[in-house]
Amino acid sequence: MTVIRTFTHDSVTGVKVGKYNLADNSTVHIFCVGETVIDTGPPNDRKSVARYFEGRSVRQILLTHHHEDHSGNAAFLSRMTGAPVFAHPLGLELLREGFPIRMYQKVFWGSTPAVSPEPLGEAVATPCGHTLVPIHTPGHSPDHVCFLEPDRKWLFTGDLFLAPKVKMFRADEDLTGHLKSLKTILGYDFETLFCAHKGVVENGHGMLEKKLAYYLALIEEVRGMHAAGRTPGEITRALFGKKGLVGYISCNHMSSENLVRQCLSCSV
Ligand SMILES: [Zn+2]
Repeated sequence: MTVIRTFTHDSVTGVKVGKYNLADNSTVHIFCVGETVIDTGPPNDRKSVARYFEGRSVRQILLTHHHEDHSGNAAFLSRMTGAPVFAHPLGLELLREGFPIRMYQKVFWGSTPAVSPEPLGEAVATPCGHTLVPIHTPGHSPDHVCFLEPDRKWLFTGDLFLAPKVKMFRADEDLTGHLKSLKTILGYDFETLFCAHKGVVENGHGMLEKKLAYYLALIEEVRGMHAAGRTPGEITRALFGKKGLVGYISCNHMSSENLVRQCLSCSV
């Protein structure tokens, strides 16, 4: 069942879209700061995106990272509105040349059609007078950025936040990067998070502090169990239970064991 729900928070507007309303990750928030759009939703729900942006003026499209649920309608929206697309330099080739999509990703979100973004600069000025500062926050993906609006203390977090306690990692996520990025971002002054999957999150600084503390405590616990002779599989079952549906459907591309293994291998 397609989800399409509009929202307004302060002067940020937008729409929540997704072909399936199964979990936070199956729907995506597209945020609009005036005529500046942040992320574009999954390609398999292009109809909802088209309906929302019909008759709306868009001047620029910013991507937090290349994943299909964020970049999936960038080419379409750019063609529809004439607006240029911007992404971190590390995502440009992936977006231009394409990147591998697994079957479960194709089913839930679809494949991103090729798009040729321009590299993000030091800061993005919006026509409505805001400044959005891209902050490189790799870990979830190498090209991941957050956008900080320093005057309003808004932080558009893409997939940096998701929840204070995540239970699964993608196979290609890097916990060392996550930890560094959380420490970097916590050096900035912000209050409200605009999370691509959770939506508006108040007490944003506190929530990201919680997430960092959770990772550090989890690393300690996992390493303690491993030192006591337990395998990554045994630790995963003890901390997170049996492998869930997502682990099976994604053939372990998304699983708790990925997170446990990263706790063992990351540098803290
Ligand atoms: Zn992502």
